[in-house]
Amino acid sequence: MKRFWWFLVLVVWFSTAGCKSEPVEKQGTGNKISPLQEHLLKMDGGFSIGHWHFPYSADAEQLARMNRQFVDVEFKVPLDGYDEDDLGFLRSMIQAGSEMNLLFWQQSSSESWFLRSDFETKQRSVEGLTDYESQLYRLLMINYGRYDSVGGNVAFLGLDPSEKKWLGANFYPADLTKEQFEGWVKAHPEDKEAFESPYTVIGVRHPNWLLQVIPYSERYQVGLESAAKSLRKAAAVFADSPSMASFLNQRADAFLTNDYKPSDEAWVKVEGSKFEVVIGPYEVYEDELMGYKAAFETYIGVVDPKLSASLEGVKAFLPGMEEALPLDKKYKGYERAKGSPISVVDLLYSSGDARKGVQAIAFNLPNDEDVREKVGSKKVLLRNVMQAKFNKGMLPISGVVLAEEQQPAVTWDAFFWHTLLHEILHGMGPGKINMAGGETTVSKELKELYSTIEECKADALGYWAVAYLVGKGFLPDDHLETMAMTSLPTLFRSVRFGLEEAHGGANMVIYNFLAERGVYTYDAGTGRFMVHLVLFIPAITELASQLLLIEATGDYAAAKAFVGEYGQVTEEVRSTVARLSHLPVDFRPIYTTADELVKRQ
Ligand code: ZN
Repeated sequence: MKRFWWFLVLVVWFSTAGCKSEPVEKQGTGNKISPLQEHLLKMDGGFSIGHWHFPYSADAEQLARMNRQFVDVEFKVPLDGYDEDDLGFLRSMIQAGSEMNLLFWQQSSSESWFLRSDFETKQRSVEGLTDYESQLYRLLMINYGRYDSVGGNVAFLGLDPSEKKWLGANFYPADLTKEQFEGWVKAHPEDKEAFESPYTVIGVRHPNWLLQVIPYSERYQVGLESAAKSLRKAAAVFADSPSMASFLNQRADAFLTNDYKPSDEAWVKVEGSKFEVVIGPYEVYEDELMGYKAAFETYIGVVDPKLSASLEGVKAFLPGMEEALPLDKKYKGYERAKGSPISVVDLLYSSGDARKGVQAIAFNLPNDEDVREKVGSKKVLLRNVMQAKFNKGMLPISGVVLAEEQQPAVTWDAFFWHTLLHEILHGMGPGKINMAGGETTVSKELKELYSTIEECKADALGYWAVAYLVGKGFLPDDHLETMAMTSLPTLFRSVRFGLEEAHGGANMVIYNFLAERGVYTYDAGTGRFMVHLVLFIPAITELASQLLLIEATGDYAAAKAFVGEYGQVTEEVRSTVARLSHLPVDFRPIYTTADELVKRQ
């Protein structure tokens, strides 16, 4: 692969001769530099490290700005009161998690891992990394590659300043188009299931250039076998929650058999554990070509039993809520299990997709519709991550964007409840649907737009559900006001994650839809927004019902039109986002407790 990359660099090099890249300080490259690299460096500047030469690298000022977007936040989780078995369990889980991390490096792009290795070789050398290289390295680690995940996936190290990340990441042959993929599946219906599976990669079988499907269990065999061993080890010391041990053993099996359904089911059924763990291939955001392929990740959290129990109170309202969804009865024939466990944890460690770029504050898994229909899904909220986001993100943003008199109504409670309900409502509404061609899923029909539509739906329904719970007397009345006011800084917080990211795009849709209905008004004089409370609920209900209808009918064309109409970045949003540029977009987690735990063994 490296040799191929070199070749590519050279080809593009000659075709872009004269395209001047930003001058950078001359980099020390150790004794690995080849005469050719030396020559290229003299010609253009560019950047070399280890086996690599990039004609373009972002200048020091750009790198500093990009690095400032992610402040370091330390996560310390007190583990007093946990016994040696507990700590041994956590160590094995972190070990398995580090395997997921390596696998995600391989998934994110073909060269990311090798590039990272060369940075680390130089870091360990006597010479060490220069300041400039350290800046690049930090960004590389945050983004799992050389593309800015909050800046449109543009390369900060690459062929030229306009180079963007390949949409298919490393799941498909580079240069395969969506049309070619769909064309193949149409011509080879027997391949459809395997090609669209979240747990396969698509390769090319030489010499005929035929597409070939490779299960994760083969493609990532070595890493998965090692992770499976660690999971079995963790399960062996974890006797106080048999359901947790059962999940871990079944997930270890899944790594080897590529059948993830049994362990996905077992995960939803885990109960009575002091810890919450998520490990394996889950989210499909990394696959921007088709939205099919799942990325490896890990979350290890410590459960807060008191809070989790009090949230169980919400469960009594869920059947009524599902019934009341703003969607015509004739579309409500879908089946979904009613079970919906919720847990609130303090995050101890994450890896892979979960650690890339913007950090998630909560998730609702598994994504497999068959499993959801059978046993439901589970919501996990990461309390310490949410608190970091609220303090470092929400409050400072609110101070810039919201009318002063409305700022006191931006509250942690409103943020917490909307996030919780966002996750719960992911599990409501259509999942499996019937269309002319037979039974299918919303995700398959809406393809690459699914993530945006589904995030948007969960957000809109999350607000709708707060109002529902206020109506039922479960939440106090003032939640209506605090929710509406808190919604605006929430939107700006997410829009800053980058519109390429599903949550960022979804928030733009919500903003435009609500602004069109007068919920948000902008005062160009003060540069601040007002939220009009009385209009909020009717508008958000209208939005939710339109999104539910798109999902219920699996209407790709309607989804495309909707995102096209409302997904545009407007001038007031662009200029407001620009005024937030001094604030960090997100943070880079430093898992102090987990690091100490591993070192102490
Ligand atoms: Zn979501």
